[in-house]
Amino acid sequence: MVVVLQNNLSEKELENIKKKIRKLGNIEIREVKGDKYRILGLIGDTSSLDQKEITCMSGVEKVMHVQEPFKKANRILNPQNSVIDILGNKIGGKKLSIIAGPCSVESEEQIVEIAKNVKSGGASFLRGGAYKPRTSPYSFQGLKSEGLELLKIARKETKLPIVTEIMSPKLVEKFQEDVDVIQVGARNMQNFDLLKELGKTNKPILLKRGLSATIEELLMSAEYIMSEGNENVILCERGIRTFEKYTRNTLDLSAIPAIKKLSHLPVIVDPSHAAGLWWMVEPLTKAAIAVGADGIIVEVHNDPENAKCDGAQSITPKRFNKLMNDLKDIATAVGREI
Ligand code: PEP
Ligand code: MN
Repeated sequence: MVVVLQNNLSEKELENIKKKIRKLGNIEIREVKGDKYRILGLIGDTSSLDQKEITCMSGVEKVMHVQEPFKKANRILNPQNSVIDILGNKIGGKKLSIIAGPCSVESEEQIVEIAKNVKSGGASFLRGGAYKPRTSPYSFQGLKSEGLELLKIARKETKLPIVTEIMSPKLVEKFQEDVDVIQVGARNMQNFDLLKELGKTNKPILLKRGLSATIEELLMSAEYIMSEGNENVILCERGIRTFEKYTRNTLDLSAIPAIKKLSHLPVIVDPSHAAGLWWMVEPLTKAAIAVGADGIIVEVHNDPENAKCDGAQSITPKRFNKLMNDLKDIATAVGREI
């Protein structure tokens, strides 16, 4: 529910309105001052609120329901874009965020070499899977806790913050200690127990869109994390399942402007898992930045042919460097920096 305030209301009137709302239940009040309006966003179960009782209070212009089921993620309650700061690297600001690295961590030499490569190419975060969600239980499942240790070595060598996927709520404490950005993969987008646990931390969460999830479902999953108190959520469009088989998934570019309209949260694109084909990573990245994405998460491998996971969609460090250079003009054209 949103209480639209009169422009000239006094501090006393404002206090009275807040007091009244607080008396009516366990509701969080968020004050929003826009250029043209001033509102109180009410978050929580507002079913016990008598709309008429508030409408007739002095200083209230009108009371409206927020149509969308997501509240904390809704742009109405937070008109400015959210910017998330990770060890001094911001996601959601003017500068594009580039997260790059292999699908999975394979060895110390591999992850450190790729980390150095992507850093010199212009990445500001290192990705690498330690716990891998594989379709087949017989496929490589990741180096698990050893993988996390290797990521920490790569971070020490390069100073790049690390981004890696969590699959189990049991590992939240460990990830909170070891990892800079915790990734929730497409397959776990609606693992609500996991989302709630992550909501109790203060770690930035990179939330990927589920394989067949709607934009609203993605935003509701973000709401699960935010409703527990953690508002550091970064959304990721990574392609959705359609009837098309040529690509691994279908990159839903329209999701970017749609999410930007609906929500204040940063949104990045994963061109690698969207396409499943390395040679499509470059054009899809360019398109993603052109439609307003705040950055990308891209798979880079120093030996794609022998990668333990997703080699076919991984670009080499050399191609990554070229892509970063080619992106400069597009970034400038849409008012961004790289
Ligand atoms: C990944 O980023 O390695 C991954 C498994 O991605 P997704 O969850 O989008 O499939
Ligand atoms: Mn992968």
